[in-house]
Amino acid sequence: MKVSDRVALVTGGSRGIGKAIVVALANGGAKVAFVYQSNKDAADKLAAELTAQGREVYAIQADVSKKADADAAIENVVAKWGRLDILVNNAGIIRDKLVLAMSAEEWNEVIQTNLTSVFNFCQAAIGPMMRSRYGRIVNMSSVAADFSNPGQANYAASKAGIEGFSRCLATEYAKRGITVNCVAPGFIETDMTSAVVSAAGDKIKSSIPVKRLGQPDDISNAVLFLASDESSYITGQVLKVDGGLTLGGMA
Ligand code: NAP
Repeated sequence: MKVSDRVALVTGGSRGIGKAIVVALANGGAKVAFVYQSNKDAADKLAAELTAQGREVYAIQADVSKKADADAAIENVVAKWGRLDILVNNAGIIRDKLVLAMSAEEWNEVIQTNLTSVFNFCQAAIGPMMRSRYGRIVNMSSVAADFSNPGQANYAASKAGIEGFSRCLATEYAKRGITVNCVAPGFIETDMTSAVVSAAGDKIKSSIPVKRLGQPDDISNAVLFLASDESSYITGQVLKVDGGLTLGGMA
């Protein structure tokens, strides 16, 4: 899967799934910038480790929910490396509450961080990608987009929104050589899921057909394919990477 010499930007790259994506793209020979929000130590450590291995990687502090931050991040990458070929919108949060208990702030924070951020970064990236008539956009959804998990109305709405947005964007820019796809992870072991895994890890595992929780590399492998030259005939799709969780059979 060829990504060598491509220029990539990954949001939420300091930890978890995003970190695995940064490593996969950098090991594939891409130049990679990644966005983090507040965890500067983790971001600096990742950038330093990959740079020491001869990879071209750097970190950008930004709040993905802010349009000005997204514009500045993309401008920063284009100013440094001359173009942008690959955008991975991965940053995301959860603020789980039943709807009656959910504050407007908890609704807005999740929608703005998970969904508005995708609009912000895609809109800023389309110009540079159109100029080179090449682009790979991969947006991080979740199986929660299709599930009916109590307590995740804000999160499910944000992820279903990402999928609808991605399909429209895919048709708008297909003829310009830009593909737009989503990856929808199942249950992946990261900071986001650590509390649930501690409380109910074995029960969750037993409900997954492959009988294990996913790891960040399971997701980065799928993203690497959709970010590569070889995926040029795939656009507007959602790739579930969930160990069979959503198949609905008797696990
Ligand atoms: P995570 O370990 O909690 O990491 C979240 C990342 O997003 C961090 O790099 C964080 O930066 C960044 N971030 C959060 N809010 C931000 C903001 N406003 N601006 C900039 N960066 C921000 O999460 P994860 O589990 O790797 O999840 C990554 C993506 O996969 C999310 O979109 C999530 O919804 C999706 N997903 C995860 C799972 C799962 O089981 N883990 C399942 C389905 C989908 P800091 O380090 O600076 O805080």
